[in-house]
Amino acid sequence: MTYKLPILILFFAFTLLSCKSHKTRTTYSSETLKIIPVSKNSFIHISYLSTDDYGKVACNGLVYMNDGEAVVFDTPTDKETSNELIQWITKTKQHKIKAVFANHFHDDCLGGIEAFHELNIPSYANNATIELAKKEGNPVPQISFDTEKELTLGNKKIINRHFGEAHTKDNIVSYIPSEHLLFGGCPVKSLNATKGYLGDANIEEWSKTIAKIKTAYPDLKIVIPGHGDYGDIELLDYTITLFKTGQSPK
Ligand SMILES: [Zn+2]
Repeated sequence: MTYKLPILILFFAFTLLSCKSHKTRTTYSSETLKIIPVSKNSFIHISYLSTDDYGKVACNGLVYMNDGEAVVFDTPTDKETSNELIQWITKTKQHKIKAVFANHFHDDCLGGIEAFHELNIPSYANNATIELAKKEGNPVPQISFDTEKELTLGNKKIINRHFGEAHTKDNIVSYIPSEHLLFGGCPVKSLNATKGYLGDANIEEWSKTIAKIKTAYPDLKIVIPGHGDYGDIELLDYTITLFKTGQSPK
């Protein structure tokens, strides 16, 4: 008896520790959509895009929930997968979707926006995103903002802001102060990632833009890139270094 108790405690401690290190545990998984919890109220959604240059690419978005409501950051890549995500939020998690935000005008951000519009869920993007999406022939978000759009879910703030050009000229980031969380999208790279698609990028400004984000939000604990694994503020440092001018291109 006296020997068993410490062994049990050790066993549970070990189990807890090993769970904690399992960063990529999924709470939902299908052929087309994966959902990964990153904090009590935040979930990464991952959907897939077929591209000519990079093959099948996994794309990250975010769902943030509070007080019975949810906000979605970037749609899954198409309408069907967006409906799959909407089902999970509204049926499984029983949350009402208040808004959807697009990080920039590419279809890995707004490819499924029609699914939200059909359910009268308002979509937001900055002026440049709306303009560029129209030009590109992509689905177009409904409500535009200038540099910054703040929203509240219950008593929790969400700040969407354009800091400058990077992956595209219109790209924003979304910051949730209560979670110390940044959904960076494509302007933010996962550790060891390459520069990716640069067709619409501003590689001179990229590092400066990310440095501004780091200065504005020094308390970040969770940073989510557009593709690949999430991490902490280190992702901002990695991205700043990757695009420092004078560095050899990867
Ligand atoms: Zn993009």
